[in-house]
Amino acid sequence: MNKLELPVVEFTTEQMEFRKEVRTFLENERAKGTFESKCDSWLSGYDTEFSKKIGSKGWIGMTWPRKYGGSEKSAIERYIVIEELLAIGAPVAAHWFADRQTGPLFLRFGTEKQKQFFLPKITEGSCYFSIGLSEPNSGSDLASISSKAEKTEGGWILNGAKTWTSGAQHSHYMVVLCRTSPKDTNNRHDGMSQLIVDLKSPGVSIRPIQFLTGEEHFNEVFFENVFVPEGNLVGKEGNGWKQSMAELAYERSGPERILSTYPLLEELVKIVRENKDIQGMKEAMKLVARLNSYRLMSIGIAQYLEEGRDVAIAAALVKDLGTKFEKSIAETARLIISSTPSVHSVKQFEKYLAQSILHSPGFTLRGGTTEILRGIVTKGMIAG
Ligand SMILES: Cc1cc2nc3c(=O)[nH]c(=O)nc-3n(C[C@H](O)[C@H](O)[C@H](O)COP(=O)(O)OP(=O)(O)OC[C@H]3O[C@@H](n4cnc5c(N)ncnc54)[C@H](O)[C@@H]3O)c2cc1C
Repeated sequence: MNKLELPVVEFTTEQMEFRKEVRTFLENERAKGTFESKCDSWLSGYDTEFSKKIGSKGWIGMTWPRKYGGSEKSAIERYIVIEELLAIGAPVAAHWFADRQTGPLFLRFGTEKQKQFFLPKITEGSCYFSIGLSEPNSGSDLASISSKAEKTEGGWILNGAKTWTSGAQHSHYMVVLCRTSPKDTNNRHDGMSQLIVDLKSPGVSIRPIQFLTGEEHFNEVFFENVFVPEGNLVGKEGNGWKQSMAELAYERSGPERILSTYPLLEELVKIVRENKDIQGMKEAMKLVARLNSYRLMSIGIAQYLEEGRDVAIAAALVKDLGTKFEKSIAETARLIISSTPSVHSVKQFEKYLAQSILHSPGFTLRGGTTEILRGIVTKGMIAG
């Protein structure tokens, strides 16, 4: 069980003061009309001006070294900022992936040149990345990818396709996992590399896929003889699988796997309180209790990540529990309050409910499906 043991993190007085500062800033920004709160804002709230504003506060790449534009804060301070941004439903999608995983990937595996070039731009909130893992025939079985890059003078020529790529239509770059040597049937994880692809390069085409809301968040991306300079290789050639797997702990354990529908929960509690609906309040409080447990686990993982511990199994567990929880907020809200959910409604509750219902099919898929996560947890527990 020790792989699932997590520390209980208690916030210091300074950290609680910092949370107040972040919350007040965000509430003032919303009151000024800088943004409108929405559910699942880390996928769908795209606002480059807001990202730059957050960057200027030092709230992107918060834990990164100052020499690369970071603020050298702790993982817990970063957690506080992320939690407050998600809880208020702020538009953070533009910089989200670069802050959460591309920056940490570069810090761990990138060249000095890559760090100096990309990280300060990311922390400013002006350089956006998307994650190029899934392909039309390779989702859960990621090792079966067929996008491939062949060596040419000064770099690679990339051919292939990615799909479900969140935010690619707005991003400057994508980190693409591709084959740089043919598949070895004895070890299918060998021979893959990660390349930084400038999405403005000739040969890249991006086709958005419409969401159930009618909006466009993720995409099909095609690479046709795209030249990628050799300096854009991340880490070691052939080490792409290991590097991509290392990213997943950042991708799976964060508060975004618990809080995608939090604005709806807050609205639900407000309404049942106003209606003096005792039964409704009981149901809402069950959600609040679950939220508190998952949150403690997720904060514990943030602490362990900072200490450099392997949290892959605990992160898979939190993602499984958290994403089902996010869905159940929408289900409970729908049953307690009689309403007509619509993304165009003027009533906040109906708008949040519609956003949550229409986005929730993706919660348990993105970042690894429930079945895959349970496989990881089970194998980890058996291995002891
Ligand atoms: C909103 C959203 C955003 C996304 N953004 C990105 C992104 O930015 N970048 C990116 O690379 N990808 C992204 N994805 C893709 C996501 O990672 C994949 O959808 C996911 O990995 C599953 O792959 P798949 O869709 O091909 O389903 P499949 O792998 O085909 O799975 C279909 C079903 O079969 C089950 N299944 C598959 N294999 C097994 C097995 N071995 N045992 C038991 N059950 C199994 C799965 O659990 C699932 O229920 C996004 C997805 C969504 C929904």
